[in-house]
Amino acid sequence: MKIKDFPKEIQEFLIPTRFSTGMFYRCLGCEREYDIYQLLYTCPACGQVLLIYDSNFGRYKKIPGELWRKIFDYRRMLNVPALRGVFRYYEFIAPIIPLEAIFYLGEGHTPMIEASALLQNIVGQCFFFKNDGQNPSASFKDRGMASAFSYLKFLLLTKRLPSILAICASTGDTSAAAALYAAYLQPFVKSAVLLPQGKVTPQQLSQPLGSGARVFELPGVFDDCMKVVEALSENYPVALLNSKNAWRILGQESYAYEIAQDFEYDLKNVVVILPIGNAGNITAIMSGFIKFFEAGVIKYLPKIIGVQSEHANPVYRYFSEPDPKKRRFETVTVRPSVAQAAMIGNPVSMPRVIYLEKIYSLLARETRVFFAQVPEQAIMDWQLLANRHGHIACTHGGEGLAGLIAAMEAGLISEEELPVIDSTAHALKFAGFQDMYFQNTFPSDFKITPVEKLSNRPTRIKPAGIKLPQPGEPLSEEDMGIFIKNTSAAIADQLNLRPK
Ligand SMILES: *Cc1c(COP(=O)(O)O)cnc(C)c1O
Ligand SMILES: [Zn+2]
Repeated sequence: MKIKDFPKEIQEFLIPTRFSTGMFYRCLGCEREYDIYQLLYTCPACGQVLLIYDSNFGRYKKIPGELWRKIFDYRRMLNVPALRGVFRYYEFIAPIIPLEAIFYLGEGHTPMIEASALLQNIVGQCFFFKNDGQNPSASFKDRGMASAFSYLKFLLLTKRLPSILAICASTGDTSAAAALYAAYLQPFVKSAVLLPQGKVTPQQLSQPLGSGARVFELPGVFDDCMKVVEALSENYPVALLNSKNAWRILGQESYAYEIAQDFEYDLKNVVVILPIGNAGNITAIMSGFIKFFEAGVIKYLPKIIGVQSEHANPVYRYFSEPDPKKRRFETVTVRPSVAQAAMIGNPVSMPRVIYLEKIYSLLARETRVFFAQVPEQAIMDWQLLANRHGHIACTHGGEGLAGLIAAMEAGLISEEELPVIDSTAHALKFAGFQDMYFQNTFPSDFKITPVEKLSNRPTRIKPAGIKLPQPGEPLSEEDMGIFIKNTSAAIADQLNLRPK
């Protein structure tokens, strides 16, 4: 729809024209503030992680919640590329970036799908999946790359940077997303990614390779790659694209804004369930809901449940101590997990989670953020069961569903509540785990025993005693007739079909 055709009172708000100049980094440790026009990942004074704030946010609070809701709903009908993705919520994400620096590769606004009737019956609860695997690189990481790379493009356009090498360590999806967005900004941006050898799936490895990134495989697990990438970003002129980069958090806040919009901004009964790895996503989701709440866009802060595998559970362990004063963070040594993108023992964003969880529950006047842990077996079983009912959950989506079950058993969910599970990637990225399950070839340290009724294998049909088609050697018409008749009879027999 053209601007002139929108209601008069909304027109001036549709395309943002009044940019903020007030964004800055703030250290979570010593609260020092830093200039936003520099690449900065940790506090130069104390080494703690940063978050980005906007000193003009107060200006947005003056706009009534009802008007904000209209602005976002009308923006759905706009065809301005810069505002089609996560920047539909421009003022809440990065209002210092001019629209010409924002680029859109199709990220965000992923579908929210109600669980199939039969699956709801099995689970005993109405719930939804939000399919973040339907982002361009097939995981939610694209949301944060859209903001982080639009910021880099802004620095390039304004000649604050001549060119840049983007680097990251990855459990697979960060590198896929970073390499994709970097490739779009060729020749000004090049990318390099560090992966733990053998700890990303073949699909995830193929993604940065296909995008033309330099790919380095290192021994060890993700936590080891992260240390190397941190040393590189401290000592060389590179842009770090891990979620330590606070610019990524801003784009990922869009997940919270979309949930608000998906539920007509009424989040009273909504429960957001998500897997936790490096804890960037839960940071962003809490931060997003807090901003919408403070600006009056939403009236209630939804319940949030963060889920971890028993094989990589440092966040769960921290919060399992009920007395906040007694909580102590300890890193864990991870064990193999099918929720491989969340297999992290020392989450970079832990200080952000601790900080924001306090604010979140304070604003809600009760504890609204909970944590669950689930066994590997439950992750696989629930993922496969969900997909057998028409969903496309990845293993982390399975982890979320297993987390919903655990939360229901712990009495954390009531019947009228509406859980939304973040399926953070597409099922196809993790097809190898499904194969291992179906073929019963899981290495023993995963602690997964396939349930036969959830397994599925192809049936080979090869009728005996007749001529079979071979590549390059077509059958005669008569032999082909025999082949079709015998083969269809064999399949009908397998399917218990009787002739008409
Ligand atoms: C990165 C990732 C996670 C973990 O998210 P964090 O922000 O690191 O907590 C979960 N699932 C998938 C598919 C991921 O790629
Ligand atoms: Zn500091």
